[in-house]
Amino acid sequence: MTNAKILIAGGGLGGLSAAANLLQAGFDVDVFEQAPELGEVGAGIQFSANATHVLHHIGLAAELARISVTPRAYEFRLHDTKELVQAFPLGEQHLESFGAPYYHVYRPDALALLEARVRALKPDAIYLDHELVDFDEDADGVTARFANGAEARGDALVGADGIKSVVRPKVLGPVPAEFTGDVAWRVAVPRERLPDDFTDRVMTVWMGPRCHAVTYLVRGGDIVNFVGCVETDDPPDESWTAKYPWERMKADFAGWNAELHKIIDAADRDGCYRWSLHIRTPAKGWSTGRVTLLGDAAHATLPYLAQGAAMAIEDGAVLTRALQAEENMAAALDLYQRNRVERTARIVDASTANRTLFHLDTAEELKAAFAERDQGKDRAQWLYSYNPLTVELV
Ligand code: FAD
Repeated sequence: MTNAKILIAGGGLGGLSAAANLLQAGFDVDVFEQAPELGEVGAGIQFSANATHVLHHIGLAAELARISVTPRAYEFRLHDTKELVQAFPLGEQHLESFGAPYYHVYRPDALALLEARVRALKPDAIYLDHELVDFDEDADGVTARFANGAEARGDALVGADGIKSVVRPKVLGPVPAEFTGDVAWRVAVPRERLPDDFTDRVMTVWMGPRCHAVTYLVRGGDIVNFVGCVETDDPPDESWTAKYPWERMKADFAGWNAELHKIIDAADRDGCYRWSLHIRTPAKGWSTGRVTLLGDAAHATLPYLAQGAAMAIEDGAVLTRALQAEENMAAALDLYQRNRVERTARIVDASTANRTLFHLDTAEELKAAFAERDQGKDRAQWLYSYNPLTVELV
């Protein structure tokens, strides 16, 4: 069905990577983004092999290598003493085991690469200032309607419009996302503001009572990325992302290791944002005859396994294969969702389970819990070893 026209609502990491996959496979694609320009938050993102396979496939291998940091290890440490609780290798070993690298990337750089690739494949594929407000599907196609009065007609519509998706409720009914009770502080600090010992290329999870933090380097090591996740009794911020006084973040990590405080102290005092983290109970399917969902719109997750965007990128590859495999649109969208439901639900559930694991009250409880599991082996078995380009579609 490679002559089909696919409309994609949402120009985030999920929508753009799907667009690049589909265009490269010969489909005609238009991407409609509500914002006046494409953009990502100034923070880091991790891509494991299950996602980098796809990014390589769409022609980004060299550019991605140029803009990324390859971490040598994934470490779990105590929040205060920095004691190592468990670790597994990344770097060469991840590449050898799974056939693609593990990368740390600055989000705006990743989005810029995807945008450039989509535009190279179809210069006029991206429509900015196009907020999807409604759509109708019929036997022959789907009509999308936008807040600016424009309309577009295609053979299928993909809702890659994020956790607040407007496509999702028309497909699955109005099930609101739930506030998890956790908020995430995000800070990106130029490494030159920090002492020389901030050069180790590791992904560190710092674990403590009712909160954890994640640190790693991006932009060739020029930026230190900090994410601090805290359980709170506050109601969620109305917009889900809100600016807060730096002092509030500093207080949330009182008693944590001095290394983390060096990052917090180096943060811009006027640039501290807090995300209210929301999820949805995994759905059993998310397609109609001509409309489907992808990324956070389909399976919003806590970021505690660093797989939200990776799932979105996997989705785009599997959707493309499903459309290539089937002549009928409804059959293709069903093949796509059938092959994504179980895996994405497992990732969402495993991410939620990490909330309990990372936030245990005492060092003894944490060490005991980690003694019963091998994070590297477990993830190797099912998470990183999945290749959306070659996995059998059933
Ligand atoms: P989004 O990025 O939300 O993009 C949706 C796009 O649709 C946006 O551009 C939006 O403007 C547009 N849009 C919305 N509504 C409309 C509309 N009506 N019409 C047109 N356009 C619309 N994932 C990882 O894989 N690795 C990580 O290391 C990682 N770390 C994370 C850390 C934190 C703290 C958080 C919060 C998340 C993290 N994630 C990570 C998850 C990841 O950021 C998301 O899963 C991913 O960005 C989802 O991509 P998406 O394209 O589905 O949605």
